[in-house]
Amino acid sequence: MTDSEKLLNLESIKNEINKAQEHYPTCDCENVEIRARHFGTGVHYVNQCLQCGEQRGSSIKREVALSNQSISKILPFDPQIKEAWNARKQSYTETIRAMQARYNQLHTDIFGENTDIVFFQKQQELREIAKINLKEAIKSVVESQGAERAIILLTAELSSIKREKISILRQTTDRFQSEDELKEWFISNFSQDFFIKSEVKGIHLAEQINVRIDFLLQAKQHLIKNGFTSELFGIEVKYLSQENSFTRKASRSLWQTISYNDSQFDTKIGYCKPKFCLLFSNLSLENEVKLLNEYDHDIWRAMIHVANHARVGQLKIRGTKNNFLGWNIVFSDTTYFSCRKVNSDFEYRKSKEDLIHKVRVGSF
Ligand SMILES: [Zn+2]
Repeated sequence: MTDSEKLLNLESIKNEINKAQEHYPTCDCENVEIRARHFGTGVHYVNQCLQCGEQRGSSIKREVALSNQSISKILPFDPQIKEAWNARKQSYTETIRAMQARYNQLHTDIFGENTDIVFFQKQQELREIAKINLKEAIKSVVESQGAERAIILLTAELSSIKREKISILRQTTDRFQSEDELKEWFISNFSQDFFIKSEVKGIHLAEQINVRIDFLLQAKQHLIKNGFTSELFGIEVKYLSQENSFTRKASRSLWQTISYNDSQFDTKIGYCKPKFCLLFSNLSLENEVKLLNEYDHDIWRAMIHVANHARVGQLKIRGTKNNFLGWNIVFSDTTYFSCRKVNSDFEYRKSKEDLIHKVRVGSF
C-alpha cells in the first residue's frame, strides 16, 4: 500500500466506525406490552419493552392489567428479548472494537505512536489511581470517625460536588428565559404538525368559573394518518424557574393544566372538552431538567406521576432550544406519540393508544 492509499483506507475505517457508532442500538422503550412476571409463588403484571426487554416502571395492579384483555392473553415476561438485545449490542461493540483496532494499527503505521491512545490509557490509569486513593481516604475516615459519622461527612461532600456541578450547568446552559419566549418557540416549531389556536376562552364545568387556556391544538392530517387522535387537546405553557419557589410554581402549573381537562372551550364547532391536556414548560427540555437540584427533581417526578392520573402529560422536546429534533407526548413515563427528526425529515410514531382514553375516577 502506498502512503496515500493507507490514508484513504484510514479515512474509510474512520467513517465505518462513525457509522457503526451512529447505529449502535439504543432504546426509547416506546413499545411496551403488559407481561406476567413470576416472583417466587406470586405473579406481577409489568410493562416489558418489546425491543430491549427491560421492565418499564413498577408493577401494575391486576385489575388494570386485565382491564383490556383476558388473563389467557397476557404472555409471560420474556427474558429472551433482553438476551437478544444484549447480544445485538455486544455484536456492535465487538465490531466497533475490531475496527478501532484496525484503525489504530494503520494509524501507528502511518504516523507512529497514536497520541490519542496514549492519552486514553493515561486517563484510565489516573482513574484507577483516584479510585484507590478515594477508597483509602474513606477507610481512614471510617476508622477515625465511625461509620455513621463517615456517612454524614461523605454525603455532605457529595452534595457539595452536585451543587457545584449544577451551579456550573446553570451558568452555561442556553435556556429559556420567560413564558413569552416559550410560547413563541412553541408556535414556530409546532405549527408544522398542529393547527394551533391561542388564548382560548372556556368554562370550568364543576365550578362554572371562566378560564383561558394558552393553546388548543388539533393534529394535521399527516399525524392523524399515523394514528394521532383527531380530537382537540390543550397545552398550557409555563416558565418554571429552577432557582425560585420551584415547588409552589410547578405544582400550581400542573394543577392549572389538570383543571382544563374538566373545562370546555369555545371553538368553531361549539363548546369542546379537550381530549387531554399537556404542560409545556422549560422542563420539557432534558437539559433544563438537569438544572433542578436533587430535591426539586424528586418532587417534580412525583408531581408528574399524580398529574398522569388526571390525564395531564408533558410535551417533551427532543434536542435543545436551538437544535429541535422532535417531540414526545409523555404521560408519566409512558409515551403516547412521538416525532423524531431523522436526517432532515420527521418520523411520527404512536406508541400507546389507550393512555389518552383511560378514565381515572374514584378507585381505579
Ligand atoms: Zn426498551
